[in-house]
Amino acid sequence: MVSIQKPTISSQNPDKLGRFGQFGGKYVPETLMPALKELETAYHQYRDDLSFRAELINLLTDYVGRPSPLYFAERLSEHYRRPDGTGPQIYLKREDLNHTGAHKINNALGQVILAKRMGKQRIIAETGAGQHGVATATACARFGLECIIYMGIHDMERQSLNVFRMKLLGATVQPVTAGTGTLKDATSEAIRDWVTNVETTHYILGSVAGPHPYPMLVRDFHAIIGQETRRQAQEKWGGLPDILLACVGGGSNAIGLFHEFLDEPTVRLIGVEAAGEGVNSPKHAATLTRGQVGVLHGAMSYLLQDEEGQVIEAHSISAGLDYPGVGPEHSYLKDTQRAEYYSVTDEQALKAFEQISRLEGIIPALETAHAFAYLETLCPQLEGCPRIVINCSGRGDKDVQTVAKQMNQL
Ligand SMILES: *Cc1c(COP(=O)(O)O)cnc(C)c1O
Repeated sequence: MVSIQKPTISSQNPDKLGRFGQFGGKYVPETLMPALKELETAYHQYRDDLSFRAELINLLTDYVGRPSPLYFAERLSEHYRRPDGTGPQIYLKREDLNHTGAHKINNALGQVILAKRMGKQRIIAETGAGQHGVATATACARFGLECIIYMGIHDMERQSLNVFRMKLLGATVQPVTAGTGTLKDATSEAIRDWVTNVETTHYILGSVAGPHPYPMLVRDFHAIIGQETRRQAQEKWGGLPDILLACVGGGSNAIGLFHEFLDEPTVRLIGVEAAGEGVNSPKHAATLTRGQVGVLHGAMSYLLQDEEGQVIEAHSISAGLDYPGVGPEHSYLKDTQRAEYYSVTDEQALKAFEQISRLEGIIPALETAHAFAYLETLCPQLEGCPRIVINCSGRGDKDVQTVAKQMNQL
């Protein structure tokens, strides 16, 4: 049985203007301000509403399959064991076992139920890898809502299977040809649609990015990942994890795991970004490692940009990490040094993809493989037997073709 607890902490919410320190805020056209206000008001009204919570909890249990297991990765832990018998104990939070194969359904369902209460019959969303599009199309099918998914044409080619899935689920996939035809451009188009159709439409943003209240709202719908982890850790070893590890695109799966532990100073929080072909090459998506502060899609955060402040194209082998921005709360956690952020290359991620498949019989998403790849750097630095929880954010079925192609080229 799933129980959604109230967050055990309260000090981590954005201020009245929706800011985490200097990050976040609402940098949007005037026409969107009432819609953001309406969303914020509705969210505050329903987040503690018993019938809203009951509906969400029931669906998370019987439809999504929560709670997701906390699995001890025995052979992976063994792989990093030192000659003296010590070494990290590695656990996987199995979000890959959720319905639709990733963490994204937690947020999509939460927002669809919220939209329904707000009387919005038309849902729009952006998607990069197609995972958020699939999760949104799934939740809309479940509730019989109209669903339009904006997707860059380049991503539509890379993720044709997910395009078909969304169509099968009854969604309209709207190709976006602007810019580089990737997630950034799809997000801009979705925002444009929202400005035009704001009365009838709810925009389901897919990560902890965008204007306030999205970074808070999306985080709260994913916070169940960390809440379950706390309870499962208590059951399994009677304590807290020592290290939490997650990949960071926009940052939703990472913050979903971290949030519950932000006020636990003994728990180390590590986010792993995509370094693509290397952070010193022009082709990477290491926003927190290499970006500068700027404004994109309604929020202030670290961004990949040129000297004139123009946002530049991100690159990663994984479409889900291929975004030049990052959620504002992660920028805040970086600056306050509460969380650490590192990056791994396409090549390292591919190696981990293969390694985890063979060691654990789990084919991770390419996004998730970035978190696993960082173990190669992290584990040799550790002493004793710390317990590491990796957010296994999604499964790799969708990436098998991409990886097969890459392997022939390597
Ligand atoms: C979308 C996605 C990500 C990246 O998004 P975040 O908002 O950073 O979590 C990571 N893993 C999987 C499996 C995804 O589908």
